[in-house]
Amino acid sequence: MSEHTASWYAATATDQQQWPPLQESLDTQICVLGGGFTGVNTALELAERGFKVVLLEAHRIGWGASGRNGGELIRGIGHGLEQFSRQIGQEGIRRFKQMGFEAVDIVKERIQRFDIACDYRPGYADLATRPSHMRALEEDLQDLQAMNYPHPLKLLDAAELKNQVVNSEFYVGGLVDEGSGHLHPLNLVLGEAKAAADLGVQIYEQSAVVKIHKGERPSVETALGSVVCDRLVIAANGYLNPDLEPWLGGKLLPAGSYILVTEPLDSTQVQALMSGGHAVADLRVELDYYRFTPDNRLLFGGLCTYSGKDLNNPSQQLLPHLHQVFPQLGDVKVAYQWGGMLGIGANRLPQVGCLPDCPSIYFAQAYAGHGLNASHMTARVLAEAFSGDTARYDLFASVQHMTFPGGKWLRSPLLAAGMAWYRLKENLKN
Ligand SMILES: Cc1cc2nc3c(=O)[nH]c(=O)nc-3n(C[C@H](O)[C@H](O)[C@H](O)COP(=O)(O)OP(=O)(O)OC[C@H]3O[C@@H](n4cnc5c(N)ncnc54)[C@H](O)[C@@H]3O)c2cc1C
Repeated sequence: MSEHTASWYAATATDQQQWPPLQESLDTQICVLGGGFTGVNTALELAERGFKVVLLEAHRIGWGASGRNGGELIRGIGHGLEQFSRQIGQEGIRRFKQMGFEAVDIVKERIQRFDIACDYRPGYADLATRPSHMRALEEDLQDLQAMNYPHPLKLLDAAELKNQVVNSEFYVGGLVDEGSGHLHPLNLVLGEAKAAADLGVQIYEQSAVVKIHKGERPSVETALGSVVCDRLVIAANGYLNPDLEPWLGGKLLPAGSYILVTEPLDSTQVQALMSGGHAVADLRVELDYYRFTPDNRLLFGGLCTYSGKDLNNPSQQLLPHLHQVFPQLGDVKVAYQWGGMLGIGANRLPQVGCLPDCPSIYFAQAYAGHGLNASHMTARVLAEAFSGDTARYDLFASVQHMTFPGGKWLRSPLLAAGMAWYRLKENLKN
């Protein structure tokens, strides 16, 4: 039996409900593989539209990245959308940007509608560590204003940022967005799973799909059961075993990200360090992201590994980053540390579509570090498509996604080399 990874989130999870393993043969309209944000929200959106849904999770609901992430709910889908202008035109780019706003609203609506206690708090800031980042943030601000972004935005210089957001000498400025924010992601996904079950979704944990049979009506096998369905949705993201579906596995690279959580600080110290209660992330290729939890702990994340295995003692590598930002926390004690796998695609746009050799098997994946919001959007897009409105699905599916070269063994070393090149290029800019 696998349990949630030991984390501050698991230690503070409010819902301890367990779902049984699948031990029978089922016939359903939709089968969803994976119980993270993508799978749970696809199931929830479909149940709301009257579909009969079975969801299979290999471990526990939220066991993957969804229950382990930084909890930063940040506007936007994809990165550098202009690169797709030849494929989808300016109108397509505008629609993706609009979905980047809607994605955050979906999460906020879910929390409200299903009364999910997940400590949502508004306020997020992108941080600049060099002048070129500041120029990028100025462009973001203009772009957001041109799109009539409906929440307050503030571009801050170094002194303003220090006063209002992060009391650190490490930054040259930042962009504050009150429409984005932060929350307890494990409690969110557990609350969403409960809402899905209340709407009739049949959830099974400890039920890894070990075989997929393609066909007009696909079917899947687990150790003790099977499901035949009209449509299958693969929502395994960074935890997809490429042997299970090699074509899909080739579109994605799993990358490890890591988090430490400190012992609680006293509230005056928290106020002195981050008085506005924001979540933050900087703009470097290998970024730091952090925020305070409601019980006054600093939750500090970063690093990026491509070996496919979690680091044993990530705090050893994270602490120097924390001390660089907050030298005043030189003797802070670490209470929790963990890692998780996120899925990265070559062009950083989330991937939504169906398998070329089986049009009744769909997928949504590859959100890089911005999956909390984007997974809620792709879930809605799939549910719309299954209900007959394919406009937004077609937009996603019209973007080509490169297959990473090198097969499953060489993909990660190639990405590591690629990322080293990006870091080098970044360090040459100012
Ligand atoms: C450390 C870390 C920090 C992050 N911070 C942020 C952040 O602050 N903000 C943000 O927006 N994003 C963040 N992300 C990214 C975000 O968490 C992910 O993009 C998002 O959770 C992906 O959701 P998902 O449901 O697609 O995948 P996952 O949550 O990974 O879920 C996939 C699920 O599929 C299951 N599965 C796999 N194979 C099978 C099988 N064969 N049968 C059945 N089930 C299977 C797995 O057990 C897993 O539970 C972070 C990620 C990590 C790892």
